[in-house]
Amino acid sequence: MNNKDQKSWIEIKQGSDFPLYNLPFGVFKTAGSEPRVGVALGNNVIDLSVLAEQSFFDVQEISDPTVFYEDNLNAFIELGQPAWKKTREILIDLFSEGNDTIPGNEELRPRVVLGMDEVEMLLPVRVGDYTDFYSSLEHATNVGIMFRGKDNALMPNWKHLPVGYHGRSGSIVVSGTDVHRPMGQTKADDASSPSYGPSRLMDFELEMGFIVGKETALGEQVKATEAEDYIFGMVLFNDWSARDIQKWEYVPLGPFLGKNFGSTMSPWVVTMEALEPFRVDGPAQDPKPLPYLENVEKSHFDIALEVAVQPEGKNETVISRSNFKHLYWSIHQQLAHQTVNGCNVRVGDLYASGTISGPTEDSFGSMLELSWRGSKPIPLQDGDERKFLQDGDTVIMRGSCSNGDLHIGFGEAKGKLLPVKGQ
Ligand code: CA
Repeated sequence: MNNKDQKSWIEIKQGSDFPLYNLPFGVFKTAGSEPRVGVALGNNVIDLSVLAEQSFFDVQEISDPTVFYEDNLNAFIELGQPAWKKTREILIDLFSEGNDTIPGNEELRPRVVLGMDEVEMLLPVRVGDYTDFYSSLEHATNVGIMFRGKDNALMPNWKHLPVGYHGRSGSIVVSGTDVHRPMGQTKADDASSPSYGPSRLMDFELEMGFIVGKETALGEQVKATEAEDYIFGMVLFNDWSARDIQKWEYVPLGPFLGKNFGSTMSPWVVTMEALEPFRVDGPAQDPKPLPYLENVEKSHFDIALEVAVQPEGKNETVISRSNFKHLYWSIHQQLAHQTVNGCNVRVGDLYASGTISGPTEDSFGSMLELSWRGSKPIPLQDGDERKFLQDGDTVIMRGSCSNGDLHIGFGEAKGKLLPVKGQ
């Protein structure tokens, strides 16, 4: 049923992010119609609401097939892991080569199989709480060196717990949504007092996020070894950052207005089941974390990541290539730490990784690091260069996994930086 080589009767180009094996979930709408749930298959979106209407999901595991008529995935996710697995199983069967149920029905086929260019993708989940971790050793070290100097780059707690902070869920937007340069209060190093104006140091943060699939009660802990029972899937995430606002406001409390003016999520949620073949070991952890953070085997996922910047009307340049497997703390440890004090988690919560920087200079996950605080311009195609983002720049993040013949991907998390609103 879950054959990785299983072909579909839908034509899918070699190297597509969305072969039959992937089947990521999203929410979309077409002109003049209501939002509904779909999966990506090649260059197509499969309309699950039509399949539900035709009773394809009338099985015990899917207790309420009307979840596919919702404008977010939360109700579907709440049905639980058996429903996610059964939905996937039904879809793999229906769309496998040789199954004539849909292609043999001329009335049904065009209602079920839509072209990606015919649909508008919406935010896939109604995000409840959003936590942003800070789990890349390379990123934390780089930023620490820039802000605190080489000798105490890492705070003393960093290798003992996955540091994180609570973010702002209401300003998370789906890929394709424009983001405005924020206004704010900043203070130059050599200035005696702060000033007010547009941020001058606009940046992205290359991150991934996982979406919680099962709630806990207040007081309950999730062990790292059980964490995957609580995770529905993963997305790409751009945590747009205004470095000058951040730098002036964040000591000693943490990020606030330098971060919460917009964050971009990819529209397709890739399930943990689809990611299973891409498990790898994470980096060795020394010192050994406390027992409640004891991790599972192969706790990381080999997800190649890239960031491209495309100036207005010009070609894009890939300026960073990193990998999710570089993270020091795994998603299991993040969830175990988030809940160690009894903090509850809810379906649709988003837990972002923090900037995913790799060990080499071309794998850094922010412009702050790539340009080393603006001291080294980043070359772009056509003779352009950047230290930080300019108005009109589009930032495009991509992620994919390849393993022998199997390739799956996340598509894109893309957003254009516009000038300050009204200017
Ligand atoms: Ca971040």
